[in-house]
Amino acid sequence: MQHTRDGLTWHTFSILEPYPELRHGYFTRAGGSSGPARDELNLAFADERDPVENVLANIDRARAVLGLPAPAFVRQTHGADISVVMPAHNYHPRSPEEVRYGFDAMIAPEPDVSLLIKVADCQGVLLYDPVSRILGLAHSGWRGSVQNIIAATVVKMTRYGAVPQRMLAAVAPSLGPCCAEFVHHAKELPPRFTDHMVSENHFDFWAISREQLTGCGIRPANIEIAGICTKCSPEFFSYRGGDQWGRFGIMAGVSQEHFE
Ligand SMILES: [Zn+2]
Repeated sequence: MQHTRDGLTWHTFSILEPYPELRHGYFTRAGGSSGPARDELNLAFADERDPVENVLANIDRARAVLGLPAPAFVRQTHGADISVVMPAHNYHPRSPEEVRYGFDAMIAPEPDVSLLIKVADCQGVLLYDPVSRILGLAHSGWRGSVQNIIAATVVKMTRYGAVPQRMLAAVAPSLGPCCAEFVHHAKELPPRFTDHMVSENHFDFWAISREQLTGCGIRPANIEIAGICTKCSPEFFSYRGGDQWGRFGIMAGVSQEHFE
């Protein structure tokens, strides 16, 4: 579902809408403070071309329209390490120097923590167990797919009590099979991924993620894939589409006030 408020446009996953305690959304590029080069809602610290105050203002506008507290976020490095964000050790970076380095997923085992993953062609994957109310967000580009960061995140969530059979999974807009061309796939991708080669050198990473999610025990009916290709859609930042620095975001948090 698409939403618009205060100049921002974001989407929610229908599979998550029955759970009002979970506030979430993935944002289009519209409505931020960043200049034309980043047009407009860039949510990632990058370099001097988008001042830190612009990025912080954009993050704050995004979390405000979702009704979430300031989000934790990390410096994503295409690895498979996961940061566990507890309320007592929550962190809200206010400058690039404060950003923790080397994590590509975060989990929030307890409520009142919000999480932000930034992407432009890579997948933002939201995982939620509505019974234990444990939340996870992962950044899975092709390197993340190769390392199966999805499974690593699900396993980490189970350590806190999440159960894959009741988990919901949603994949934000990302590079579609139309545009996921990997001419060096023989070197970069494992042979099993060729099951998902849909045309010469083009891979369906949405199908790969679906397989990784069901491989964890998540039910097919509990998986929603936005199915929007970021390179084809002008709504979202796309690295392959020419946005070298701009990143959109998927943000989520579980609110204690909805608990019984
Ligand atoms: Zn495409």
